[in-house]
Amino acid sequence: MLFDRDGTLIRDVPYNGDPKLVEPMPGAVEALGRLRQADVPVAVVTNQSGVAKGLLSPDDMDQVNARVEELLGPFDAWAICVHDDGDGCTCRKPAPGLVIRAAAVLDVSPRDCVVVGDIGRDMDAARAAGARGILIPTPQTLPGEIEDAPEVAHDLWDAVDRVLNDVAAAVPAASAPWARAMGWSRW
Ligand SMILES: [Mg+2]
Ligand SMILES: [Zn+2]
Repeated sequence: MLFDRDGTLIRDVPYNGDPKLVEPMPGAVEALGRLRQADVPVAVVTNQSGVAKGLLSPDDMDQVNARVEELLGPFDAWAICVHDDGDGCTCRKPAPGLVIRAAAVLDVSPRDCVVVGDIGRDMDAARAAGARGILIPTPQTLPGEIEDAPEVAHDLWDAVDRVLNDVAAAVPAASAPWARAMGWSRW
């Protein structure tokens, strides 16, 4: 499960370079705890154009991310874009690069990933990478972004519920006695 950072895992403080201002979103600690308990890998996919703009240094960003891990626990992967619109990179969301990179680090297909975010760029990146997207709107989320979202959750707990319910539902099906036969008897 791949999470946007600002406005999704932690409160959005634009171009924040100060670890003291990091504050988890409601339910973030519990939601991540449930995923780790269920052995679902967790990663962060985050645009940090403040670095390209010179508003924070890469070192500031690292310290903020270290604080995020202090508060929310370790992530299995971090995929970070430090470019800006107009740099023509392939990682800045809505481009799919961060999702593809995080999936590669986790050694899974992007198609098996779920991207959770608070704006349309997150959902577009998910779509472009072939991943499932779940939008958790905040007051900053635009109505059109909510309309266009493939899936909308109330909060992190709800998003994790959706994913863990599907994981639980998928396990018996995959191990059903006929599953193997179904695999190779395709015409
Ligand atoms: Mg965000
Ligand atoms: Zn980039």
